[in-house]
Amino acid sequence: MIEKELGKGAILIISGPSGCGKSSLLKIFYENFLNYYFSISTTTRLPRIGEIDGVDYFFTTKEEFEKDIENGNFLEYAKVHDNYYGTSLRPIKKALDDGKLVIFDIDVQGHDLVRQKLDSITTSVFITTPSLKELENRLYKRDTDHPEIIQNRLKNAKIEIFSLDKYDYLILNDDLEVASRNLIAIGTVAMIKASLFDKDKIISIWNGNEE
Ligand code: ADP
Ligand code: 5GP
Repeated sequence: MIEKELGKGAILIISGPSGCGKSSLLKIFYENFLNYYFSISTTTRLPRIGEIDGVDYFFTTKEEFEKDIENGNFLEYAKVHDNYYGTSLRPIKKALDDGKLVIFDIDVQGHDLVRQKLDSITTSVFITTPSLKELENRLYKRDTDHPEIIQNRLKNAKIEIFSLDKYDYLILNDDLEVASRNLIAIGTVAMIKASLFDKDKIISIWNGNEE
């Protein structure tokens, strides 16, 4: 069982349509949260202006990605917007052993796969804009994607929104400050989820049977 192999940390999955503000919120989260590890995904999509290989993503080719799939190197992977995206297993194992909160910015398919494998240590939050129109405004304002790509992302968003009730928490990212405060609160409670703890050991200590 993979859950038994993994250490003392916890997982926080963040999903939501492209352009809802995940990166903006995470930036504030990182300035305010200790002991986290951001899982850098591997993708076959091209880097956007300003994105750095090894920081935002590990950018790779379709051939290399498919080789990694064959070698079992991914905890999960999915095809999103016609590109592959995946989470490599090895750095996640280390971060969990180190007792960190491991942050996954992954799509709904990835969420379902991680929950199947690691449910007891996972907390999840779906982030979105207050409306589809606002999502469209933000994508155009960000000005990092071709209009055709934006239209594809909006089409996907209309499907993704139907999965919001699979998540533990929902953030409607209207006021960035309020939304980031809520995300920090969710990160905090993700680390004290009851199923993370060794119940037998705690009860034994509680009964005075262990130091
Ligand atoms: P994602 O990482 O989900 O794709 P970004 O963080 O890149 O989204 O945000 C998309 C755009 O929306 C950016 O231009 C960002 O500055 C803007 N944005 C993020 N949060 C808010 C907010 N609460 N109100 C207004 N604009 C926002
Ligand atoms: P973007 O191209 O905007 O960076 O990301 C597009 C989508 O892919 C987002 O919904 C993002 O959460 C998702 N994504 C990024 N990395 C991964 C990953 O490793 N696995 C999965 N399943 N989805 C990912």
